[in-house]
Amino acid sequence: MKAFFRTGVLRILAVMTVLCCGCGKEAGGPWESVDVAMGTMVQLRIYGPEEKRAQEIFGQAKEILRSLEEEELSWRLETSEVYRLNASAGGEGEALSAEMARILQTCLELYEESEGAFDVTLGALVRLWNIDSWAGGQETGDFRVPSAESLEKALGDSGSGKLQSLPEGPLREGTRLLLPEGLQLDLGAVGKGLALSRILALLEDSPEVSGAVIYLGGSVLTYGSRPGGGSWKIGIADPSAPGSSVGVLALEGQWCVSTSGDYERYVEQDGVRWHHILDPDTGMPARSGVRSATILSGDGLLSDGLSTACFILGPEKGLELAEKYGAEVLFVLEEGEIVMSEGMGAFLD
Ligand code: AMP
Ligand code: MG
Repeated sequence: MKAFFRTGVLRILAVMTVLCCGCGKEAGGPWESVDVAMGTMVQLRIYGPEEKRAQEIFGQAKEILRSLEEEELSWRLETSEVYRLNASAGGEGEALSAEMARILQTCLELYEESEGAFDVTLGALVRLWNIDSWAGGQETGDFRVPSAESLEKALGDSGSGKLQSLPEGPLREGTRLLLPEGLQLDLGAVGKGLALSRILALLEDSPEVSGAVIYLGGSVLTYGSRPGGGSWKIGIADPSAPGSSVGVLALEGQWCVSTSGDYERYVEQDGVRWHHILDPDTGMPARSGVRSATILSGDGLLSDGLSTACFILGPEKGLELAEKYGAEVLFVLEEGEIVMSEGMGAFLD
């Protein structure tokens, strides 16, 4: 019985062999950089600056991704705020930085609005399924579906409703967040979108950049305009053949597009696909009849969080949730059928 671990990174590394890093063609670009960050591929393409400045921007973007991972989001690295919060579980809590308070407050609101489908306190479950080893692109026969007892224990250790804060009320800088014993945060569902928002701020601070497209895992940022006019074209992957697309978005200016799909990270065993988006009700990979959910939003954190939430909720409730946040959504369902929000059609090429 052999299990195959498939990840976006594997496909991405294959792509990287044909793209060269930092290969610009002429003054003003486009300049391109392909790298691995946050456990996935990051591809930056920018228009406008001279090559030297473009290389500087690539370096700054790399540093943004490194510090976001190492100082804020990683559950593995002792240097990160999430690590410290997790280590404080069962104790007197940790005071939140202003940015972590903002991120977690948005995530808690999404937990409420999604009726618990989106939950950043599933760290124990994510560890139990060993999802991060799939992200490492391993091919292994070690995969086991966790036992009912271990799933029950991890579910008991999860739930945003179990978090407490001092003082009570919306999280702010300095609020102490109290995690009960065993509860572990996992911000994997919003990290890439958050990273795109940080890179957006860098682009906005770089007036010589006239346009850019940044791919980071399942999320994409478009910015500014294309030289010579025309819209940015962003394909929505076909879950059955992720190299081709089920549709192309034509976007002008600044947008974030995030896709959550059962083809991004998964293990297949005996014909069953075990993917990385978990249903907090069962602790199992969500089975909502959805193969992918793509969100279009002006905000990276929201587009990434909503795509995960909509995947779990399925089309009916997912459409309602996206509407509440003023976002557009497109679902690819198991039979290949496409369901989308009313406004999404206007963005399809
Ligand atoms: P994404 O690919 O953006 O949909 O994020 C998936 C990642 O989010 C997983 O690899 C887990 O780290 C985490 N995750 C899994 N299930 C959930 C959930 N129900 N709510 C929030 N985060 C989740
Ligand atoms: Mg997400």
